[in-house]
Amino acid sequence: MADLTKAERMKLPRQAMPEQDPMIRKSNFQEVPHGFTPELAMAEALRCIECKIPHCIGGCPVEVDIPAFINLVTQGKFAEASRKIKETNSLPAVCGRVCPQEEQCEGVCILAKKFQPVAIGHLERFVADYERENNLVELPQIAQPTGKRVAVVGSGPAGLTAAGDLIKLGHSVTIFEALHKAGGVLVYGIPEFRLPKSIVQSEVDYLMRLGVEVKTSHIIGKLDTVDELFAEGYDAIFIGTGAGLPNFMRIPGENLNGIYSANEYLTRSNLMKAYDFPNADTPIAKGKNVVVLGGGNTAMDSVRTALRLGADNAYIVYRRSQVEMPARAAEIHHAQQEGIQFLMLTSPVKFMGNGSGCVEKMECIGMELGETDDSGRCRPVPIEGSNFEIEVDTVVIAIGNSSNPLIPRTTPGLNANKWGNIIVDPETNGTSRPGVYAGGDIVTGGATVILAAGAGKVAARAIHNYISNKN
Ligand SMILES: Cc1cc2nc3c(=O)[nH]c(=O)nc-3n(C[C@H](O)[C@H](O)[C@H](O)COP(=O)(O)OP(=O)(O)OC[C@H]3O[C@@H](n4cnc5c(N)ncnc54)[C@H](O)[C@@H]3O)c2cc1C
Ligand code: SF4
Repeated sequence: MADLTKAERMKLPRQAMPEQDPMIRKSNFQEVPHGFTPELAMAEALRCIECKIPHCIGGCPVEVDIPAFINLVTQGKFAEASRKIKETNSLPAVCGRVCPQEEQCEGVCILAKKFQPVAIGHLERFVADYERENNLVELPQIAQPTGKRVAVVGSGPAGLTAAGDLIKLGHSVTIFEALHKAGGVLVYGIPEFRLPKSIVQSEVDYLMRLGVEVKTSHIIGKLDTVDELFAEGYDAIFIGTGAGLPNFMRIPGENLNGIYSANEYLTRSNLMKAYDFPNADTPIAKGKNVVVLGGGNTAMDSVRTALRLGADNAYIVYRRSQVEMPARAAEIHHAQQEGIQFLMLTSPVKFMGNGSGCVEKMECIGMELGETDDSGRCRPVPIEGSNFEIEVDTVVIAIGNSSNPLIPRTTPGLNANKWGNIIVDPETNGTSRPGVYAGGDIVTGGATVILAAGAGKVAARAIHNYISNKN
């Protein structure tokens, strides 16, 4: 096989990743794909023709040297391949699972023009899992202690990445996390069936082995403010507090029992393990007719959670068409396979109760697509007289999140825009307050794991320069 010409390699079929049968997985919370075997990974890696100008690298927000790591896979050097990725992306096991590769590296892979792109994400996931599962993760060289202290606020991908880069440079790093577990959305938002929590925990454990101190259940802006952290002796502060404030529909009946924000619904299920109630302390509504409002990854995670909790009917209600849905293509595909019902071009008008304060019905209206709006997508326009009702006992609102306002509110001189996103210099991720840096969803609004991780990297470099030149 290895002797094949480039033209022959391009024509090799893309290797499918084995996964749980949809009819079985829709009743359990175990991860959907099983991952590549070494043989499948090597067969897939052979498809990469090592382009002279590798577009895939440009398609990756943190410019992983994709052909170099894939070449190592062809040689069976899996741990080395993982280390190659980690030169620019410290979370490959996570990104291999959740990055929208179809829009990034795989979307611009040269093979995609005529054939299917190289399965870059599946290979990334495979090598990171191989390295971790075979205990081949090596601790990197840590620079001599500098005596400088950095506080990282928030332990999502932005905070974890910034902390990892800063500790390697010899600084003392403490992460402050509001929740009782570190990991941000990776632990409270994205379900186990897409991203096993043991993987996130191993990333946190790795940082702790490097010497990062993690203080959970510690809300900055309540227990300490940013100014108090400086007073305690921190030389610089990175804010990676994410966009965890749920948006609501603001329509009649929204306060009825049985209507949740996706944030609460997913946190109950993922972080508090409510799917295992009463073995876990937190309960969750196990609705029979569950409607999830929205079309992004959060909506898809919520509706697939509802199905696994035992819903007879689990619906996505989305006001545009499937083409405009922001969720990853793979997640929509998996949801369809599992039997999720998609009510497209539909918008809720009001919720009706059963007389005891619980939601019983939802009135909807049909939509059609009009002119293109500011988001570049066609604006959904209600079709007069198309109203209809659906029986529901549980509704999950997944129409996006806003930035958490606590830190901007409690930090004088920290500039934020009208949506509450902290304003930064994109070159450094420095804020209007000297020594305070920010990155991830708190700056961009809800985005992606890799963009948050990339922002943490940029900030870590700038913080290093700042504190290295500070007395
Ligand atoms: C359900 C869901 C599914 C998603 N699926 C995908 C996907 O498939 N692919 C993808 O690329 N992206 C996905 N995303 C988006 C992605 O998870 C986020 O863009 C990313 O996690 C942002 O990282 P972050 O570090 O900025 O913040 P977060 O991950 O939000 O982490 C912020 C952390 O800061 C903590 N915090 C907040 N305020 C304070 C405070 N005052 N003091 C201390 N700690 C604080 C929070 O508790 C949280 O742990 C998804 C998001 C959600 C909600
Ligand atoms: S664009 Fe595709 S074929 Fe070319 S180097 Fe990148 S992964 Fe390989």
